[in-house]
Amino acid sequence: MASKFTTVRNDLLSKKVIKGLNSRNMTGYYAKDKEEALKLALELIPEGSTVTMGGAMSAHEIGLVKVLKEGNYNFIDRDDYEDKRAAALLAYDADVFLSSTNAMTEDGVLVNIDGNSNRVSAIAHGPKKVVFIVGMNKICPDVDSAIKRARNVAAPINAQRFGIVTPCTQTGSCMNCKSADTICCNFLITRYSRHTGRIHVILVDESLGF
Ligand code: SF4
Repeated sequence: MASKFTTVRNDLLSKKVIKGLNSRNMTGYYAKDKEEALKLALELIPEGSTVTMGGAMSAHEIGLVKVLKEGNYNFIDRDDYEDKRAAALLAYDADVFLSSTNAMTEDGVLVNIDGNSNRVSAIAHGPKKVVFIVGMNKICPDVDSAIKRARNVAAPINAQRFGIVTPCTQTGSCMNCKSADTICCNFLITRYSRHTGRIHVILVDESLGF
């Protein structure tokens, strides 16, 4: 849980983010800690659901992935598949897709970048429901600063995590590369959902993911 000082700020800011989400036909929730975030997420995922995910560290950090793997859910784990493409394609017909976000604006716009791009494509279309787990550390004032965060914070850390060869793994910030290994092939800005009830964002008063 955050300190009492950041909690006051995050409580206030979360209201603004949720209002912004609602104005974009998306639904926001606010959890005071990981335990509450887990409870909220499970309320959105009925038992028996087919669930997939795209690189969502935050979903691991609140314990959601473990519960889904061990519980009465059809959890599709790409690590169990030799054919990664076939596993990724299963996401498009899933009941629920789990994701974190690389960044998000105070008025409810989600910003994500992707190399393989299975994650951003599933966020945009396919799974019946998308559940985002978002630490308050991901909130940025506007779209420009959210893109900067995605490129200069999230992507260089993820590049380190994947052990790939890109300039940002040497410099710590984005060098706008066209490396064969770049994880910045596609940028998705989610500013509105046409499908009511599809996009759910659980904000958490914690620092989650990168
Ligand atoms: S250097 Fe390349 S891989 Fe790294 S953040 Fe920039 S565009 Fe992405």
